[in-house]
Amino acid sequence: MDNKTLYFKQVPIGPMGNFAYLIGDKKLGECVLVDPAWDVDAILKDAAKDGMRVVAGILTHTHFDHANGVQALVEKTGAKVYVHEAEARHVKGFNGNIVETREGFFLKIGEVAMTFLHTPGHTEGAQCIQVGNKLVTGDTLFVGACGRCDLPGGSEKKMKESLRRLTTLEGSLEVYPGHAYGEADSSTIEHEKRTNPYMQF
Ligand SMILES: [Zn+2]
Repeated sequence: MDNKTLYFKQVPIGPMGNFAYLIGDKKLGECVLVDPAWDVDAILKDAAKDGMRVVAGILTHTHFDHANGVQALVEKTGAKVYVHEAEARHVKGFNGNIVETREGFFLKIGEVAMTFLHTPGHTEGAQCIQVGNKLVTGDTLFVGACGRCDLPGGSEKKMKESLRRLTTLEGSLEVYPGHAYGEADSSTIEHEKRTNPYMQF
């Protein structure tokens, strides 16, 4: 997959510094929306401006600030929404549109292949999405920090295991977090291993 094929866009959205992501196949003109929240209309228009149609949604986890646009997305596009099986019960009322995922789940849009990594800790069904040399990390890994573990479904122990696992990935893998909390909007596994206090093992 080359850069002529991969469509990847980080979209700042909402009052809590969230990032949604559009990922797809430029040639096909189709993409997924990762973490449909806040102003789905604006995100769909953003995609359309680039000649892209949103055909599916993915949730990195089901917290309100990442998932409050699921209804809008389903109503406007009829898209299927991919949610980890441990959290699917939190997304109510769209059962026909929910697809449950698990570790190693694979989704392809045209020639663009996405792999799902189950990374519990922030929530029990938190997942990272890998596409080429990019990793969308939701609230598992932030630039310079990690997600909190003290909310329902959170586990410090599991977070540690998940972060340790991320340190074993290719250092050049680019990290795209679920919030703009860091000194930069993206990073790499290598940089986080060197500088992120939560990635020291
Ligand atoms: Zn969260």
